[in-house]
Amino acid sequence: MKHIYNTASRVQLNYPALLQSAIPSILTFVEPDASGNHSLPLMHIQNRTIEFRVFDEDAAAHQVDPMIIPHEFGHAMHFSAVSSNTRANFEAQYIGFLATHATNAYHDVNKPTTPFVAFIEAVGIFSERFFFFKKLVRPDLEDVALRQAFFRDELDHQTLGNHLNVYVPVGTRSHAGITPALTGNDTEGAIYGAIYLDFASQVGLREAVGLVLDSQATSFDEFHTYVSGRGNNAWLTALNHAKTTWRI
Ligand SMILES: [Zn+2]
Repeated sequence: MKHIYNTASRVQLNYPALLQSAIPSILTFVEPDASGNHSLPLMHIQNRTIEFRVFDEDAAAHQVDPMIIPHEFGHAMHFSAVSSNTRANFEAQYIGFLATHATNAYHDVNKPTTPFVAFIEAVGIFSERFFFFKKLVRPDLEDVALRQAFFRDELDHQTLGNHLNVYVPVGTRSHAGITPALTGNDTEGAIYGAIYLDFASQVGLREAVGLVLDSQATSFDEFHTYVSGRGNNAWLTALNHAKTTWRI
């Protein structure tokens, strides 16, 4: 995927987002394939006058977290890394979801949604939390030490909860193992916990994210099918363990 990441025009940013006629009440989201012609993602970011979570100073003044860019950028990177066919598939499903939930689009970490939206949104949750962990909790760490500290802390201590205004714990870990607070293949926080914390703690965070990007999956089940087909028993055992723990 290096050729995509090396392309300066890989992601477009629309700020402040104008009203989308097809999706009237939703202004901040990433279109996977905005032109519908195998293009790259387009991030729509709501104007700071109504979305206080874009800039640090607005967020501080309103006691919210500046999570919009790290969250949406995670979506954009995910969408740009998959094939153009997968991106077109994402576009159809994602815009379909947003359009049919126009009056109540606010999916959340702990609200059941569809398996597709939960799988997609887990990337956004991971991206935003990894960003805040590096920035607020362990700015001293890099690379593998940072990645390991991230999933360990998210499972064992949830230190981010002390730094953010809005933080939903997805599970805890003790010597007896992981106890999920959220479960199910349609719950964003459960997919996040299963892949980016539990699976990552067994196979490595870089491997877990790499497998998500390589898989072209649109749900946890498709991701599981992809990992099953890779012929790596350690990965499959780890994912099956996470699948059981988080009841996915
Ligand atoms: Zn999102």
